[in-house]
Amino acid sequence: MAVKRKTRQRDAIFGAIRGADGPLSVAEIHELAGRAIPGLGIATVYRNVRSLRDEGAITAVELPGEDPRYEPSGRGHHHHFRCTDCERTFDLEGCPVGVERGATLPGGYRVDGHSLTFYGSCEDCNRV
Ligand SMILES: [Zn+2]
Ligand SMILES: [Zn+2]
Repeated sequence: MAVKRKTRQRDAIFGAIRGADGPLSVAEIHELAGRAIPGLGIATVYRNVRSLRDEGAITAVELPGEDPRYEPSGRGHHHHFRCTDCERTFDLEGCPVGVERGATLPGGYRVDGHSLTFYGSCEDCNRV
């Protein structure tokens, strides 16, 4: 019985992360997974997030000045859009940066990678 509940908690937590349209904070995971599992505790969410991360199933996304967010591993190269109104973070499709890994920038800088986050308001929030 206890094992079954643990599996259900984990499935709800992983399901919330997989079903989201962007990386989720622990508080957001808690809210979403708590709809499926009434009484789900925040400590349980933290514990499952840690073990999913240790297993490599999810990856942390760090935005400056924010708690880490989590997304499923293996989504490939992509960027995020942070809505400063509703404070949600969304995945963006494609990469607008035309600089490939291995490219050399003026000044002789060889590029290994880049990170980029857009800020603004999402479709829900900029609807007048
Ligand atoms: Zn928004
Ligand atoms: Zn990119």
